[in-house]
Amino acid sequence: MDKATKPIPIVNPWARPFWDAAREGRLIIQKCKECNKNIFYPRIACPYCFSDGLEWVEASGKGTIYSFTVVENNAPSAFIQDMPYVVAIVKLEEGVQMLSNIVGCDTRELKCDTPVEVTFEKLNDEFTLPKFRPVKD
Ligand SMILES: [Zn+2]
Repeated sequence: MDKATKPIPIVNPWARPFWDAAREGRLIIQKCKECNKNIFYPRIACPYCFSDGLEWVEASGKGTIYSFTVVENNAPSAFIQDMPYVVAIVKLEEGVQMLSNIVGCDTRELKCDTPVEVTFEKLNDEFTLPKFRPVKD
């Protein structure tokens, strides 16, 4: 049997800047020029006021864990080698939420509201994934 490989993101044209920035180690999100709200995930129009006047802004990369789960058991897949791993919703300082992984931590010590910061994990030459790790005191 072939060794399973991890799926790569499917990129819509309007989300391309997000992935280009991630490859450069930068986290960017969209901001609506009409109503000033921050937006994530990438869209073609503002979900609040429907304006298509969106711009990209640099995010701080800092946030807190809103919710998470620790995956300790899984069907055979390319993710087996990562177990246990953490799937989390991270609430960025900018107010948007991002589904990602928490890395570089003891999974037994994670709590909601833990401060985290972005870190980048290179998947291949095209994709780098923004992940998060607890902020060290
Ligand atoms: Zn708007």
